[in-house]
Amino acid sequence: MAEAQDACCLCETVVNDEDIPLQEQFRLTIDIKATLVNKPLVKEDKKTRKTAREDKTEELTKKVSALRNAGGGALLIHLLGLSPNDRCLALFNEYVDDTLTKLIEDGVLFVDTYSKIWLSEHTTSEKYQEYLVLIVKSSLSLTTADFKTKVTSDENLTRPTTLNIKKLLFNEQQQKEKRPKIRGIDDSIQEGRDIEFKSFHKTPFEGIITQTNVKEVLEYIWKDLRLREYISSFTKIQDGGSYYLGIGEGLEEITGYNYKTKNKILSGIRVEPSLHETVKKGLTELIRQHTIVQIGNAAQPRSADSLVKFKFHEVDKDQVYILEVAVGYTPGCVFYDTPEVYTMIEGSTQMIPVEFSEWLEKVKTFHPARQSK
Ligand SMILES: [Zn+2]
Repeated sequence: MAEAQDACCLCETVVNDEDIPLQEQFRLTIDIKATLVNKPLVKEDKKTRKTAREDKTEELTKKVSALRNAGGGALLIHLLGLSPNDRCLALFNEYVDDTLTKLIEDGVLFVDTYSKIWLSEHTTSEKYQEYLVLIVKSSLSLTTADFKTKVTSDENLTRPTTLNIKKLLFNEQQQKEKRPKIRGIDDSIQEGRDIEFKSFHKTPFEGIITQTNVKEVLEYIWKDLRLREYISSFTKIQDGGSYYLGIGEGLEEITGYNYKTKNKILSGIRVEPSLHETVKKGLTELIRQHTIVQIGNAAQPRSADSLVKFKFHEVDKDQVYILEVAVGYTPGCVFYDTPEVYTMIEGSTQMIPVEFSEWLEKVKTFHPARQSK
């Protein structure tokens, strides 16, 4: 079931208000504080604000994908605390448009997919001053909210396209899988498509893993430090890749030249050797629990042990190590969770997830220029 998004009372009213002159049959609401979109006067904690903005973007993504997959609809955006005199959308557009663009997989232009209108201009009711309506057109094929797998450039991880996924899953000539290989920590390693450095120093754990915090640390590495995303991306590279925990980056002057370049800082992780096994086992368990290896319509029984390899490299004698997680090439596609795709329940204001098998079928027949329904 779709998680019930806690809509406010007014949203409950507006979504069922039959006097609202909207043609769109499917309607959803979303509450967004006006101060989250616009620049707040009161200082807010940067990280809290960033997380809140990301959470709302995620909710928006799910709802827009549901409406697109259901044949189009209206998302009633409740901008809580918005001045009735403020109809400026500049910061709102800045906040959401990139996200909305990513949800167009069929090649149709942004301007032909979305429109934004003020509800107050279409109703005499005073109480809807805070509502902006995002009209969402139907997807010609299928809109995935979150693929739960990443692809990479040389600089960073990105969201794949539906065509990327189709090629990975349904390409007839799949390469053979390769075992992960440990690359080591000598000077030659450089960040790129197959190498990622993550500092552990500047985390809430301040560079230390202990018996007490280890469980929390593992969850943090998996999600916040994005190990799951890097694993999914490295499996798509012919020679795999390595994720290093405990390497930070700084800027360094090159003597005799007029610029600075990036350098590695081997700050490491302080962790007793007796805990190394616990860390490896814990991460293996997270991979085992969450990862799906898929070729075509079939899930592949590839074990976590064959997908990754761990090595603690000693940096100095004082129990400081760098953890390397090496990942091997894997045919098909590795997901770190079930892809999130939504649609609407007919005749309701509720969204529901699309089954994985149904999603696979749609990806298989996906053609950006052809209607698949
Ligand atoms: Zn509301």
